Amino acid sequence: MVTRLCSLRPVFYAWMLLLLQLISIDVLKATAKTFDFYYFVQEWPGSYCDTHRKCCFPKIGIPSSDFHIHGLWPNMEDGSWPQYCSPHSHFDFSQVADLEGELEKEWASLQCPSNNGHKFWAHEWERHGSCALNLKEHDYFNSTLALKKQMDILGVLEATGILPNGEEYSSDEILETIGEAIGAVPEIRCNRDLEGREQLLDVFVCINKYDASTVIPCPTEPHNRCSPKIIFPPFRMGLSSS
Ligand code: AMP
Repeated sequence: MVTRLCSLRPVFYAWMLLLLQLISIDVLKATAKTFDFYYFVQEWPGSYCDTHRKCCFPKIGIPSSDFHIHGLWPNMEDGSWPQYCSPHSHFDFSQVADLEGELEKEWASLQCPSNNGHKFWAHEWERHGSCALNLKEHDYFNSTLALKKQMDILGVLEATGILPNGEEYSSDEILETIGEAIGAVPEIRCNRDLEGREQLLDVFVCINKYDASTVIPCPTEPHNRCSPKIIFPPFRMGLSSS
């Protein structure tokens, strides 16, 4: 009898091992923060700066009057998003040193005091990039820079007479114009200028999560987060100080 029980022991251990593996896979699935698509977010510096009056030029000098990269954000179809996914994913500048020139130009920090952008890039990587499970730090920044090169939002708007001149424009027209140019209607976000008028702050383009480069129709019902008429303000250099 005892010998029989002993011969069953390896089978028992094998079953226990399998059970433990199945449990740990389930636990991993439940804790892994997945996502459905990316938002590629570009920011209009004129709107960021006239609200944050203490906007400062980056250390390398006056940034261009163009949309700047805000970030590449993993997002869920239900509108929620994962963030700060890995406490171990600290921003390591050495990983992106080869991209420094492009990052300074396209992903400039306008926060005061005047700085070299590392704090902003670290924030975006640690809050959002750490959740882009398939992208390592260099890939995350490189893919985001490539997206910026892929679309010229300002050029598209200007070509249809929508200029950053402080005039009021139709939100729908802005959305349609960008949508026609890039192949899918984006979303926009507004803030208020010092007179309380709504103005264009961010443009959100939905991107395929598998390649981080293909523009896709937004999986969530595209919602316009701005009023029907919004201001497109100039990027006034005079407002910024160091
Ligand atoms: P997020 O947490 O990714 O939604 O980004 C918001 C944070 O980024 C806020 O702390 C903003 O002040 C900051 N931010 C947004 N645009 C810029 C910019 N152009 N330069 C520096 N910080 C920025």
